[in-house]
Order: sequence, then structure tokens, then C-alpha cells
Amino acid sequence: MSPGLRGRWKMIVENLLLLATILLGGLGIWFYSPWLSLLYFGFAGVVHLFVLRKLICINCIHFKDGCHIGWNRIAFALFSKGSIENFEERMNKIGAPIWIVTFIWPIIALARTLITSFSVSLAFITVFYLLLVIASLFSLGKLGCSNCEMSKKCLIGKICPVKSVKRR
Ligand code: SF4
Repeated sequence: MSPGLRGRWKMIVENLLLLATILLGGLGIWFYSPWLSLLYFGFAGVVHLFVLRKLICINCIHFKDGCHIGWNRIAFALFSKGSIENFEERMNKIGAPIWIVTFIWPIIALARTLITSFSVSLAFITVFYLLLVIASLFSLGKLGCSNCEMSKKCLIGKICPVKSVKRR
């Protein structure tokens, strides 16, 4: 497989897993509260499409040249270049908490619904969601962070256990 094709394949896998995780997470919250679920989808859409791109990606070394997950293209199309000096602080103070909220919010909602009104189908959704979170984190680490120059400045990259591939 050519490097270009391999890069595209990784990009598709990372994006599909994250999309599936967010969709299932939002569905899980729906059982707790449909309004909270809509809020979650709104939050995830706005922060991941715009806020993180504006606050973090514009300061990334891959802003112009293309990154493992392809989100630099959104930032490049919408915003102007920032400064690499801002990357670390923004990633650690804004990016990491937003990612944690994105993944944890559905877990809290699912756990509360399971306690108040247990059902086998909800338990299945919870387990499947947790597996998707693990798969997403693993794919980000293995296909992304381990090849990303910026992971040295990124809290998630620093704690990422998947470091088998030599960084660029
Ligand atoms: S590597 Fe991360 S911070 Fe850099 S452009 Fe891609 S998504 Fe944004």
C-alpha cells in the first residue's frame, strides 16, 4: 500500500471510530434525557468542528501540511494560522478537558439510567460504547499520536501508552 493510501486509510479509520463513538454516546444519553442528548450532539459538533480547530489546530505544526486525522483541513479552510507557542497550553487546558467531557458525559448518563431503569439492551449499548471509546483511543494513539510531532507538546500524546511507531 502506498504511503498516501495508507495515510488516507488511517484517517478514515480514526474518523469513523470517533464518529461512531459520539453517535452512540449521544444515543446513550438519549435514554437519560432527549434534551441532554441534543445538547451533547450540539456540543460535540461545535467544539470538534470549530472550537478545537480554531483554538488548537491553527497553532499546530501540521496546520498546512496535513495531519493524521485530516482536521487541519477544516482549520485551514476556516481560520488563519496561529502560533506554535500557543499549542501546548491550549491543548492541555482546553483540548484535553473537552475530549474528556466528550467521552465521559455518555458514561455518566448511561450509568445513571442503568441504575434507575436497568435493561439488557441498555447494558449492551453501555458495553459497546465503552469498547468504542477504547477502540477510538487506541486508533488515535496508534495511528495518530505515535506519528505526530505535536504529541510531544500534547498532554494526551504524553500519556498515550501507544508509542510503538517512530515519530516524525
Ligand atoms: S494533529 Fe491534531 S492539533 Fe494538529 S492539526 Fe491535526 S487534529 Fe489539529
